[in-house]
Amino acid sequence: MEPSPVQKRIMGRVEADRDEIVGFLRGFLRARSPNPPGDTRDACRYVTDYLDSRGVGYDVVGPDAEKPNIVSGFKAARPGRRLILNGHMDVFPVGSGEGWSRDPWGGELVDGRVYGRGACDMKAGTTASIYTYLALRELRDELRGAATLTVVSDEESGGRLGAGWLVENVPEVLGDCCINGEPSSPYTIRFGEKGILWLRVRVKSQGGHGAYTHTSLNPIKVAARLITDLEELVDTPVDYPENLRRAIDEGRDAAERALGPGGADVMRRLSVNIGTVEGGVKVNVIPRECSFEVDLRLPPGLAKDDVMSRVREIVGRHPRASVEETRYDGPLWSPPDGEMAETMRASSRLLGIDPRPIVSLGGSDLKFWRGLGVPSYYYGPTNHGMGTVDEYVEVEELMHVVKVHLLSAYEYMTR
Ligand SMILES: [Zn+2]
Repeated sequence: MEPSPVQKRIMGRVEADRDEIVGFLRGFLRARSPNPPGDTRDACRYVTDYLDSRGVGYDVVGPDAEKPNIVSGFKAARPGRRLILNGHMDVFPVGSGEGWSRDPWGGELVDGRVYGRGACDMKAGTTASIYTYLALRELRDELRGAATLTVVSDEESGGRLGAGWLVENVPEVLGDCCINGEPSSPYTIRFGEKGILWLRVRVKSQGGHGAYTHTSLNPIKVAARLITDLEELVDTPVDYPENLRRAIDEGRDAAERALGPGGADVMRRLSVNIGTVEGGVKVNVIPRECSFEVDLRLPPGLAKDDVMSRVREIVGRHPRASVEETRYDGPLWSPPDGEMAETMRASSRLLGIDPRPIVSLGGSDLKFWRGLGVPSYYYGPTNHGMGTVDEYVEVEELMHVVKVHLLSAYEYMTR
């Protein structure tokens, strides 16, 4: 489809601001905000200085002064719905910086890539949200409804002090739809995320001398068999609603591309990770206990009770074994064929890429909005080096993401 004159104007505007956008991101990367410790005051000041320079008002709020959250809003000329533009400013830690070929806090631009911790997760996406917000604000006479920008802390440690705190304390951030630019790759739009169910399993016995294996059960051997059996959980049947099943089937190739080979299968099934194992005191002693932790990720459509009844059945096969839940956050999703998902797809198609709606494997701040029933989607750049060395974003992808966000937000606010 050909872009309309308005869409051409929006794309031209973003293109004209290319240096401004790339320059903003590079400076944002130089404002260090590793989490832990999660102190984002420098990054926050960088963003608020920018808003000040544009004459845009905002509030800095939150329960922890070292982890501030920025909120800014405006009303358009005519009444309508409220759109939320969200991004986080904390990033993964760097450690010693060993293994990086670029300065992780340098914001270097080399061969069409911007390098630095947070380049793809998610200062590029947050740059897209800030740019989109400011552009919409300038165009507010053409628009309906209202928009709120939330630039938050604490996402990398769960978001309770950031987006989680905002949705409970600042009514202005709730809105009718929320978008952000977490790394999705331009080929997928994320409409949901898998749930998290953590377990601790313990196996106990009386223990004994390592030569007297006839006197005591060995908890480590039992745990080893149990760990192998837990792999059966991967085949737990999932009862998908029809629109979800269709999206997951149609998104298969895009998921493989965005998540890596094998990613599509992991997206649609329960996954099992054994994160820690503890047990034993000495090589010639039969231990009294072995315990291990299990990280299960539940796809949308899978109920915790169904998983736990299978877990109990498997654990129950093994002598002296018990299981307890240590964390549960259920899977959350917005309609894969919802208005904003369709709008984002159409916007990206104008630029030559047809992204598919898929489910994320990890969590994001959108869970707080989805948990309240606010349709929420993310669309951002490819994950290059997220959480590891030489993280970067391609400038062309950054520009694509900014255009899709502004085109989609503009479209949403004219309806
Ligand atoms: Zn992120």
